[in-house]
Amino acid sequence: MPSPSRRGRGGGDRNAPKKVQAPSVRAVRESARRISRVSDLYGAGETGRLLDSRFTRSAKVSKLLQRRHKHVFRGIDDQGVYRYRSHAWKVPGGVRLCLKRPLVYGQIVNQYPWAVVWTSPSTGRRKRKLFATPLSAIHFIATKAQYVDRQSAVISRCVGYDIPLRYVNKIPRPWRWCPYCMTARKFRRRSNGDTFYAQRKEWSEEKGRYVWHERKLAVLECTRCGSTNQDIHMRRSNQPWEVNRIKPGARRVRRK
Ligand SMILES: [Zn+2]
Repeated sequence: MPSPSRRGRGGGDRNAPKKVQAPSVRAVRESARRISRVSDLYGAGETGRLLDSRFTRSAKVSKLLQRRHKHVFRGIDDQGVYRYRSHAWKVPGGVRLCLKRPLVYGQIVNQYPWAVVWTSPSTGRRKRKLFATPLSAIHFIATKAQYVDRQSAVISRCVGYDIPLRYVNKIPRPWRWCPYCMTARKFRRRSNGDTFYAQRKEWSEEKGRYVWHERKLAVLECTRCGSTNQDIHMRRSNQPWEVNRIKPGARRVRRK
């Protein structure tokens, strides 16, 4: 709920001329009909970039946005290359696998769940541009950003993606799975030497299996998107993975 002071500051003058009266059924229908663009669905929250509360439970809106999300594969060919006129950009395999998954609630309610990051060659500063769909982000890289910075990347802003099974145990160090870049990245220590405590999965010679230990760890940051190893998706994606074979017909699996 917004605090009284915020309501007074933000919507005071806008609400003043309106009459305090429940809208008629007809008025509600008319206002619903007026929505012709996807951007009209948004406008809530402090920044106006959240889904309007009228649509947060709407199955129709959610279906529409899911369908729009699937369009990302229209422009990408079998080799994973996005082409537009004379432009071409190879979409990383991890990004393609993550984009195949349907949107989750946190992405539906956010108008711009995607971004493109690149470094400006003239100033050396990191730049970021927000996008409503991954297709528009990829299009921006293919037609503009890649010519300025070869390392331009698509970023998921709202949701971290776990490592796709295809890449489990296959990313060589110093690379690690980045849940927001949706691909393998290098992570660096922060210059201020930040640390934190977390459980780490380590091989025990005497027990002959992996065990979890509480360890003091350095905060590692993705050099591209700035996410850290404190993130749950990042931590569990980069722990050693084991295969647990379950015999057919087994009702219960013994814990190791
Ligand atoms: Zn990253």
